[in-house]
Amino acid sequence: MEPPLVAENLSTPTDTMAVSSSAAAEALRSVLHRVHQVSGRCGRAPHQIRVVAVSKTKPVSLIRQVYDAGHRCFGENYVQELVEKAPQLPEDIEWHFIGNLQSNKVKPLLTGVPNLAYVEGIDDEKIANRLNTVVASIGRKPLKVFVQVNTSGEESKFGVEPSACVELAKHVSLNCPNLEFCGLMTIGMLDYSSTPENFMTLANCRTEICKALGIPEEKCELSMGMSGDFEQAIEMGSTNIRVGSTIFGAREYPKKASN
Ligand SMILES: *Cc1c(COP(=O)(O)O)cnc(C)c1O
Repeated sequence: MEPPLVAENLSTPTDTMAVSSSAAAEALRSVLHRVHQVSGRCGRAPHQIRVVAVSKTKPVSLIRQVYDAGHRCFGENYVQELVEKAPQLPEDIEWHFIGNLQSNKVKPLLTGVPNLAYVEGIDDEKIANRLNTVVASIGRKPLKVFVQVNTSGEESKFGVEPSACVELAKHVSLNCPNLEFCGLMTIGMLDYSSTPENFMTLANCRTEICKALGIPEEKCELSMGMSGDFEQAIEMGSTNIRVGSTIFGAREYPKKASN
């Protein structure tokens, strides 16, 4: 995988980076510092952990502040919102679409966001096939994808059951040449605090998939950990944490969220 933005890149701003004193930029630095510390504690290199700054519901101006602090990796989970915001921001942002994606939104997403790097949240063959087809039809480079696993057993959660993850990972790897299988993603409990069981389940899914596909563990990333639990997730092997409110502040939602 390409080197993600890492904690050490930001701890001492250089003259190539704007020194920003915005609250969001400070919060980002603090998150990167915590990533650095926890990875040190568990004997992992901080550059093995990608920090996706989840900017949903937040204005472009605030995202820009975090960008100006040197961060390049951002995540959104509403198609319409991402399609509106992405063109107003620099093209070297690596966008992650995180969460549930509907088939009829695939084309607007891919055409509206040429710098979309990852879709985190493939949870059935249909959406994988649709992404595969649209990537080919618009002629963009292969799209990196994570398979979403429902590790909490909650019915409200998207994601394949752990017992079905091997089959879906195989489908993506073997039948979707325009997708690049990167690993597994999970969302913890509804209150956004994952129990170690959720993370352990995801790690076990990785073991099975690596065995079935004959790939090394490094070829199957784990996207787990959010504001409330990213340190624990890193300790349990996460390579991709998705941090929103700790960087951008609490979100305010309209009465009824629209997608
Ligand atoms: C909103 C969201 C996050 C970030 O949550 P925070 O608790 O604000 O860090 C992470 N992952 C997904 C899928 C989300 O929808």
